Amino acid sequence: MKQYDVLFIDLDDTLYDFSSNSRDAYEEVYALLGYDRYFDDFQHYYTLYMDYNAQLWVRYAAGEITRDYLNAERYTHPLRVVGAPDADALGARFWHESMQRLPLGKRLMPHAREVLDYLRPRYHKIYILSNGFTELQARKMQSAGIGHYFDGMILSEDIGVNKPHPDIFLHALRVAATTADKAIMVGDNFEVDIEGARGVGIDQVYYNPLGKPLPSEAQPTHVIGSLLELKEIL
Ligand SMILES: [Mg+2]
Repeated sequence: MKQYDVLFIDLDDTLYDFSSNSRDAYEEVYALLGYDRYFDDFQHYYTLYMDYNAQLWVRYAAGEITRDYLNAERYTHPLRVVGAPDADALGARFWHESMQRLPLGKRLMPHAREVLDYLRPRYHKIYILSNGFTELQARKMQSAGIGHYFDGMILSEDIGVNKPHPDIFLHALRVAATTADKAIMVGDNFEVDIEGARGVGIDQVYYNPLGKPLPSEAQPTHVIGSLLELKEIL
């Protein structure tokens, strides 16, 4: 098995169960703001939100839209779809209330802590490498109690480009004072984490818990369905 010096690990939906934590937060804000006036139920709202949010993140990762645009649009879009009055103001309120709650979620992906306990003594350098927003990521890690496992966080917002742009991976290699052949990237997003790392010659572990079909012919270095499998690779 190949030896690596440095691990780069994605945060959201790789270690931190962002999907569950954010769903909880949104359900709370949905009730707080009385959204039942506009939507059949929370699932109705959440499906509209999730579908459009995914499209916006693709555009954000490509550098086509700003984070302020993303944050305004993703909360007003579901309201516009159902014809709610004052969609802009209400969407902004939803955003504000959500931002208070999003960093408080504690749920981790299955076996995340166990695997971090295993990895920490074996590697000198472990970094979070994330496209998430700077002001949220540190607080999320603190809420989930995993901040102490890492030597640092490399965040796209601090650098000015998002994964999969090669510059963020090259920056990460400089921060870790290493080279591409000595590092490996672990992440759940094929286009962003896996193709981005491959683009600069970093080996990759694609965490694919739902067993999604691979979107490209190029195989990742490793594909895992459970974080526990990292113990065999690393
Ligand atoms: Mg992710």
